[in-house]
Amino acid sequence: MTLLEGSVGVEDLVLLEPLEQESLLKNLQLRYENREIYTYIGNVLVSVNPYQQLPIYGPEFIAKYWDYTFYELKPHIYALANVSYLSLRDQDRDQCILITGESGAGKTEASKLVMSYVAAVCGKGEQVNSVKEQLLQSNPVLEAFGNAKTIRNNNSSRFGKYMDIEFDFKGSPLGGVITSYLLEKSRVVKQLEGERNFHIFYQLLAGADAQLLKALKLEKDTRNYAYLNRKLSRVDGMDDASNFKAVQRAMAVIGFSEEEIRWVLEVTALVLKLGNVELEDEFQANGISASGIRDRRGVQEIGEMVGLKSEELERALCSRTVETAKEKVVTALSVTQAQYAQDALAKNIYSRLFNWIVNRINESIKVGTGEKKKVMGVLDIYGFEILEDNSFEQFVINYCNEKLQQVFIEMTLKEEQEEYKRENQQGILAMLDEECLRPGVVSDSTFLAKLNQLFSKHGHYESKVTQNAQRQYDHTMGLGCFRICHYAGKAMWKAQHPLLRSLFPEGDPKQASLKRPPTAGSQFKNSVAILMKNLYSKNPSYIRCIKPNEHQQRGQFSLELVAVQVRYLGLLENVRVRRAGFAYRQRYGPFLERYRLLSRSTWPHWNGGDREGVEKVLEELSISSEELAFGKTKIFIRSPRTLFYLEEQRRLR
Ligand code: ATP
Ligand code: MG
Repeated sequence: MTLLEGSVGVEDLVLLEPLEQESLLKNLQLRYENREIYTYIGNVLVSVNPYQQLPIYGPEFIAKYWDYTFYELKPHIYALANVSYLSLRDQDRDQCILITGESGAGKTEASKLVMSYVAAVCGKGEQVNSVKEQLLQSNPVLEAFGNAKTIRNNNSSRFGKYMDIEFDFKGSPLGGVITSYLLEKSRVVKQLEGERNFHIFYQLLAGADAQLLKALKLEKDTRNYAYLNRKLSRVDGMDDASNFKAVQRAMAVIGFSEEEIRWVLEVTALVLKLGNVELEDEFQANGISASGIRDRRGVQEIGEMVGLKSEELERALCSRTVETAKEKVVTALSVTQAQYAQDALAKNIYSRLFNWIVNRINESIKVGTGEKKKVMGVLDIYGFEILEDNSFEQFVINYCNEKLQQVFIEMTLKEEQEEYKRENQQGILAMLDEECLRPGVVSDSTFLAKLNQLFSKHGHYESKVTQNAQRQYDHTMGLGCFRICHYAGKAMWKAQHPLLRSLFPEGDPKQASLKRPPTAGSQFKNSVAILMKNLYSKNPSYIRCIKPNEHQQRGQFSLELVAVQVRYLGLLENVRVRRAGFAYRQRYGPFLERYRLLSRSTWPHWNGGDREGVEKVLEELSISSEELAFGKTKIFIRSPRTLFYLEEQRRLR
């Protein structure tokens, strides 16, 4: 059964017959093999990653989807973006577009397609165009600093992103606000085999000219840097050098000054150089093992770059100062502890740099208060990851996805709600706080031991830590690191470098307060809570992304892999709920156009209104009134069978 000429399978899973997991999968597969990557479940868009450039995007297609409505053309992400934008512009409803799916499923690409569609259709004029450019150019910058090649995705987002695009009453863009969620900072110092550090490091080394490299005291070869995976520097099909140029251009378009761009690159270079500082055992007079710097040149270079005395930096790396209200105790760190402090410092510098960049972009795109705004939020959260040993960061990513899934359920499938054990999810984050604040030795293993103890019987809790505690410890961001990096951070404030200094305000004695900063866990929990509240207040559209295979290959559709995702995304339930009401809805005009040949009253000529015409057609075919509801602008049809019947009749004419 097809609703549109030239379509394959059903374009809306609501029309699937019979409706079961297998037919749903087969339908997605059939469509995928015919390069139809988009399928609806009512107003939800299912998108299967094509892993190839399809000729279905760009100005010509944007114009087409702008002219037609949802069901009149093939399913497309532009159609969804169109509905959302029109509802914002014409019905004054704030919108949000929620994009979910596992790593590599196509969320980030989808968010960019939505943005480019909206940018193309909303408002005109020089001023408006420059706002659009700034909004669009935030993508390459954030991807350079926040994305990396992983085993699953060559351009994997390692942070969560929520972007509000703000419009005036006519629907022209004014600007926006970007919120980022918990960058995976452990990647700065360590990557799994087959993965890379954040793109920017490679872009910088590949794209900077000799003069810039010299100024930053960098060498071109990525293998010279301890923080860059030595076995992997290039990614197929990715041109780091030209991307570097694009990132610099994008920063300029957004409004970063030349000086600010230089600062950002200097801090990026600093992180690489910090990783190369080698620490060694040094025996003190009293025989206690302490750490020292093996070769002072690197430390001196860093000192020169950022205007910091090298002794200051050395002290920051090799010792720890614990300050209480009454006294100050300086202890030497062992080599292992010092290396840990070094990594913690690098991770902190980088993640603060990232946050600074997000804030700097926001400064450029922010909209004055006072103005009445309409908002479209686009949420592109990092994908679900199921790793052998999930670290704190993966846990957080999954937490966020759970939360999103919960929004989806609550907003569309209320009856499924109790399957989601919200209390227990929050319970884990609450405990994380408790553990961070507990005096004494805090490690991931004690924390996880506690989790094990409390949640071992819980159906949704599974711990891998016991099998491989040491490795687990290495991958995580290290819950104990907060205290150590506190001092190293303070040292950074003493640097002359304006950006670096501003990243560590706590080093300023005037600002020092005894209040503990919130832990990463509680910060994240709060920001997710704010996000959820924000999303609930808006009219949602959903894009459910699916990854067709594990190899990032075009044309391969693994039924098993897709089955898992279909199950976890709850697509079948989604279709069932949708079908429990009215399976199909269509505006009177297009509906009449399609079926008016079925009635002698409306064919070949009809001079009445669209709605009356539709009534005539359905009356003449004796469709039971229980099957129908006449809305203000649309006809609603309860069961797919009625629609099949109409289609059948059409074919017979
Ligand atoms: P992560 O959670 O790891 O960030 P993601 O869901 O954001 O993953 P994307 O980065 O959007 O995944 O997609 C992965 C890759 O798949 C892209 O780099 C691109 O090569 C390809 N891809 C995704 N969507 C499309 C599309 N619509 N057309 C062509 N290629 C696509
Ligand atoms: Mg992504």
